[in-house]
Amino acid sequence: MALFKEQLDHLRQAPRRWGLTGVAGFIGSHLLQTLLELDQEVVGLDDFSTGRAFNLADVRGQVGEERWRRFTLIEGDVRDPEACRRTCEGAWRVLHQAALASVPRSIENPLLTQQVNVGGFLNILLAARDAGVGRVVYASSSAVYGDGPTQPKVEADLGIPLSPYGLSKLMDEQWAALCDRLYSQSAIGLRYFNVFGPRQDPEGAYAAVIPRWIEQLRAGRACTIFGDGETSRDFCYIGDVMQANLRAALAPPGTPSRAFNVARGEATSLNQLHQVLREGVEARIPGLGCVEARRVAPRAGDIRHSRADLRQIQEVLGFAPEGTVAQGLRDTLDWYLAQGR
Ligand code: NAD
Repeated sequence: MALFKEQLDHLRQAPRRWGLTGVAGFIGSHLLQTLLELDQEVVGLDDFSTGRAFNLADVRGQVGEERWRRFTLIEGDVRDPEACRRTCEGAWRVLHQAALASVPRSIENPLLTQQVNVGGFLNILLAARDAGVGRVVYASSSAVYGDGPTQPKVEADLGIPLSPYGLSKLMDEQWAALCDRLYSQSAIGLRYFNVFGPRQDPEGAYAAVIPRWIEQLRAGRACTIFGDGETSRDFCYIGDVMQANLRAALAPPGTPSRAFNVARGEATSLNQLHQVLREGVEARIPGLGCVEARRVAPRAGDIRHSRADLRQIQEVLGFAPEGTVAQGLRDTLDWYLAQGR
């Protein structure tokens, strides 16, 4: 941890230029904030398909005008090689987050998923290679594990993808390995598990469970639990995703172009999650946390349990999750309720 802090201090003293795709999204906007708070210069690319101007305005409010001036926005598409070239030009590192990031949406639209998630990533890898970018750090996903039965999930132990989304992230990892082999383009993948935190979109059919439930509880509505609620996930607070990205970006040259799990390594069931959120809402707005959940039939295709083995990211990148899921949930609740949404 001391070495990592030293590296961050060094970065602050000698700022670099970073390319960042998906900058207006949930994770991308947090990366923007983290980099600007480290006094870095950032060129961000987004087509605002799921990203929101609100997220960028929120970052601007958090970092202040002086730091905000170090940010350049390119409104464009990762499917466009020229937009990728501009994002990578002069960049020291590129953090790639842009994707069609929803499993059900990918099942409805497999071709678009392939074009954005795979074609767009290949554009970024090639633009990074041509611009001499030292490393690309890219968002992969626990969805690459597909139907693999192993628990906890170990990086090399893959199953068959269960969605175009999972397949697209697996193909990204293979493109990254191949581009390293053929062109010596370093690219580290981060297999995020279920990330949560402020600015995650609570609206729409594809919203993630935590912001959706907070929104429903806040409105006095019942949350929907599929099946018996004992399905569990490895919920990962956004702060840990920041740490993983920075550690991957700062890892020494020669660090292998592999993909690593990013999570807490803890299982939380949906029943436990619902209980914590209900209590949290009740403590902040008495009366709203008492609505019982609506229980419906299990959802087809849902994996029963998903938990990460973190040994590899600990050993190779020195990653160590901070805080607790409960603390992350409290911070997230505070943020959503303060928005008065
Ligand atoms: P998000 O939808 O909030 O962010 C994705 C961003 O990419 C959006 O701002 C969107 O407008 C942008 N984008 C989409 N298509 C684009 C295109 N063609 N050109 C340019 N920009 C485009 O989602 P997120 O949760 O912030 O996810 C970020 C990354 O992390 C994604 O790659 C996602 O697959 C991955 N991931 C997220 C989670 C999670 O729990 N949130 C878990 C695993 C992996």
